[in-house]
Amino acid sequence: MNKYSLLKGVTLYFLMIFISTAVNAEEIIGQQEVFNQLDSFYAKQQSSTVFLAINNKILSLNTLSLRDKVAAQVKFLALQELSLTFNVAEQYLLYVVRANIDDTAGQEYKVINWLNKALKLEPLLAKNQLNTPLFAGAYLTLANIYASQGEDKKAFDSKKQYITKYFAYLKQQKAYRVKGLNEKYQIEKKHEENELLTQNSQIQHFALARAESERSQQHLNIAIFIAVGSLFLLLLLRQFKIRQALKLLAKTDSLTLLPNRRSFFNNGATFMTQALTADKALSVLVLDIDNLKDINDNFGYDVGDSIICHVAVLASETMRSRDFLARIGGEEFAAILPEANIEQARAIAEHIREKIQANVSKNQNNNIEVTVSIGIVSIADVRENFDSLLHAADLAMYQAKAKGRNQVFSYAIERKENQD
Ligand code: GH3
Ligand code: MG
Ligand code: MG
Repeated sequence: MNKYSLLKGVTLYFLMIFISTAVNAEEIIGQQEVFNQLDSFYAKQQSSTVFLAINNKILSLNTLSLRDKVAAQVKFLALQELSLTFNVAEQYLLYVVRANIDDTAGQEYKVINWLNKALKLEPLLAKNQLNTPLFAGAYLTLANIYASQGEDKKAFDSKKQYITKYFAYLKQQKAYRVKGLNEKYQIEKKHEENELLTQNSQIQHFALARAESERSQQHLNIAIFIAVGSLFLLLLLRQFKIRQALKLLAKTDSLTLLPNRRSFFNNGATFMTQALTADKALSVLVLDIDNLKDINDNFGYDVGDSIICHVAVLASETMRSRDFLARIGGEEFAAILPEANIEQARAIAEHIREKIQANVSKNQNNNIEVTVSIGIVSIADVRENFDSLLHAADLAMYQAKAKGRNQVFSYAIERKENQD
């Protein structure tokens, strides 16, 4: 044993003597204080069912009193200096602390005294709190002390109390754990349900948004389809109209809007074949405006144009609906007259000539006399082909010019005159 250990032992011995004197002195005052507080407490409160909170200082003091009695005694005195107010549970533990501090050989009666004081507070504490090892430990200490004193019955009872409380504590802990787990499970379940609901609502939301977008896309597609279709139809219609117009233009004379030369020849051959096949009459006339060159020279080309148009209108009006009139040259017209023999053709031609002579000259401010020369021919006289037929009508028209203009001349007569 070295010097330090010896010194430490002596110091501890004197400190113990000092402390035990201080405790003995304070013990009387302390007991008095506790009982005074308890009396007023009993008066106020019957019993408690709730756990009372315990100051951390007392908890650590309780632990310290089991390991180091001297240090615990110092701390205990320091705690008293603070003159704090303690609840019943804290007072209980302070008695246990004192019992622990005094728990040395020969001091058993003090320990029993402190612990009995603590146990007297039990009716004021919650049963579940008393079952915890912190409080039930008092019975174990008591049991040990009684056992050391040979009081087996008391030791047995105290131990039994301790064990009963300990099991009740374990049962309670188990119930708490189960309750805690249940609550945790319920919370997690609720959380999962909430998440599921959120996900479901999100899915529904997305599905709705998707359906909406698909619907709008569909509407857009339909609108585009209709627009493209309408455009296509319009273009098709326009194309068709252009084609029709071009077709019409191809066979129409732009000044008089009568069929042109090409159209006349295309139709002429057909008319002639039909007439020959059906053995029906058909005549052709060729009409030429007299002295148009002079009119152009005297009154201008525009006046010449309007005279051409006027002649076209008058000739059309005079013809029958089945006749086919065309402008085949600058100031030359020709007509196919189905089912008309030469006499009927002459009548039509005369009618036209007279009408032109009468109308045109009368309607002009400038008093222009417009006349026409007309040559006629029947398929009764020329049967070869349509060109020959037209050529014969042309010859007859020239004959009319030669005879002095403003007259109708037939190819048959011309031929007869030539033969004579
Ligand atoms: P004729 O009695 O012998 O037929 O005399 P003409 O002057 O009518 O005949 P000619 O063959 O000598 O001349 C034809 C004239 O017709 C000349 C030409 O300027 C005119 N002509 C031809 N086509 C058109 C046209 O589209 N518009 C106008 N204003 N004149 C035309
Ligand atoms: Mg001419
Ligand atoms: Mg002429």
